[in-house]
Amino acid sequence: MAQPQQELVFAPLGGVGEIGMNLSIYGLGDGRTRSWLAVDLGVSFATEEQLPGIDLIFPDIRFLEQERKNLAGLVLTHAHEDHYGAVLDLLPKLKCPVYATPFTAALLAAKRAGEPGAPEIPVTIVQLGSRFKVGPFDVELVSMAHSIPESNALIIRTPCGAVLHTGDWKIDPTPILGDVTDEKKLRALGEEGCLALVGDSTNAVREGRSPSEADVGKTIFELIKNARGRVAVTTFASNVARLRTVAEAARAADREVVVVGRAMERVVQIARELGYLDGVPDFRPVDAYGYLPPNKVVALCTGSQGEARAALARIAEDQHPEVTLSRGDTVIFSARTIPGNEKAVGRIINGLIDQGITVITDRTHMVHVSGHPRRDELTELIGWVKPKILIPVHGEALHLSEHAKLARSLGIKEVVQCRNGDLLRIAEGRAAIIDEVPSGRLYKDGSILVEADARTVADRKRLSFAGSVSVALAITDKGQLAADPELDLIGIPERDRAGGLISEAVEDAVLQTFESLPRKRRGDPDAVAEAIRRAVRAAVNERWGKKPMCHVHVLSV
Ligand SMILES: [Zn+2]
Ligand SMILES: [Zn+2]
Repeated sequence: MAQPQQELVFAPLGGVGEIGMNLSIYGLGDGRTRSWLAVDLGVSFATEEQLPGIDLIFPDIRFLEQERKNLAGLVLTHAHEDHYGAVLDLLPKLKCPVYATPFTAALLAAKRAGEPGAPEIPVTIVQLGSRFKVGPFDVELVSMAHSIPESNALIIRTPCGAVLHTGDWKIDPTPILGDVTDEKKLRALGEEGCLALVGDSTNAVREGRSPSEADVGKTIFELIKNARGRVAVTTFASNVARLRTVAEAARAADREVVVVGRAMERVVQIARELGYLDGVPDFRPVDAYGYLPPNKVVALCTGSQGEARAALARIAEDQHPEVTLSRGDTVIFSARTIPGNEKAVGRIINGLIDQGITVITDRTHMVHVSGHPRRDELTELIGWVKPKILIPVHGEALHLSEHAKLARSLGIKEVVQCRNGDLLRIAEGRAAIIDEVPSGRLYKDGSILVEADARTVADRKRLSFAGSVSVALAITDKGQLAADPELDLIGIPERDRAGGLISEAVEDAVLQTFESLPRKRRGDPDAVAEAIRRAVRAAVNERWGKKPMCHVHVLSV
């Protein structure tokens, strides 16, 4: 009997058509049974307006749960939240081996320690540039420059061929810290033969090359050197190269660095342990801040996204116990504002300016660079690895389609654009979408995971928009009201345009509706509740122009 042909497939379960919650899976088998390799398990962040009460969005992993016994392992490319932020919540459902490099593993462990009750996650630590087996997959790490230490691309070798999964990357010849993008290994892959490139599309709309971390360094040196009062710099804690730049600029200006914010302290400790801050003088604890003269201090703060509980927001509102700023001081926002956070960041910036503090952002100064490749870098990578197939990932629709167009213009014949949940055949045969797997989103609501289509969040949205009315009625066995109805109006204006009380209109609607019901129907609590609910919503709508939620409780007494 002939061996069934081996097939290599790929499916994004998150991160395609959106920026965030990356989760990719590769499958190897005969089409009936497959072994799976998962790459990354990230989160997205929700804004209060879109999803009230929801902080985090996770990819739906129903499919991997079904396939759990065939899931060989999860490899984390790097420790950004959109790549590893869902591990603590979702891994217990998968229970597969996890592979990560030392910095990623250390950040995961620190995060776990900071969340009481978080599960133990055993991680196999793999070294930069190493090669290891995950089930039938032969995985090799390729160091890539990015805005966090230890970002890795993966070469995934299979009997069907080799795939390059880029993860997040850029080309930066002077990254300040860590390895440069490993051009030699990527060119060697091109020689060996690269079947498919699955790559970062974030900056595919941007011409040219992304500036270097060293360019940011120069600006920050100048700004700190020329500042007169205190300087506070806020950035992502995980951007250790940036922390290092700030520390060196502070030293050159004869200032000491104070670290403010728990996330920042955590990363600094890990970076010290792993040698990423070698040669940088020790930072001072936050309580030293008050004793240092204004021109002798730089505060490195969390809160670059305007997070209300982070250091910078508290400093800006003069609520921080140790750290204060005043007229003549400078705050540098050394980070991009993630879409959705603009309002929160804007509030802090305006508040600081109102207090006479100078605010520097990347809109006027090169105090931040992206960690993702622009078009010339994408072109260069394609030239190095010469893939047969290109699959754009890590981007919104526009980014993906620009990446696809660019690849086609460079002569790549098989460019496949897919969406979360598409199952794509990489080999054998022409690359194509051949099937669909279950995919979607989960919300973290408080400490509970809920399905995105569950009613809870939709209900909360409606509540925030139009309030609610609750009505309680007690009906005797003769079909009479035992007492006046109890009403409770929440989030509804007290009076209508003409000055009439809306609560009275509601009460009238309840009583009239009840009286108009035939005696027989009054014995059916569900029918009573539904008739009254409709009448109440219509009555409020007539006076307010909005229909509230309405709950009617009927008691038979
Ligand atoms: Zn990313
Ligand atoms: Zn990243």
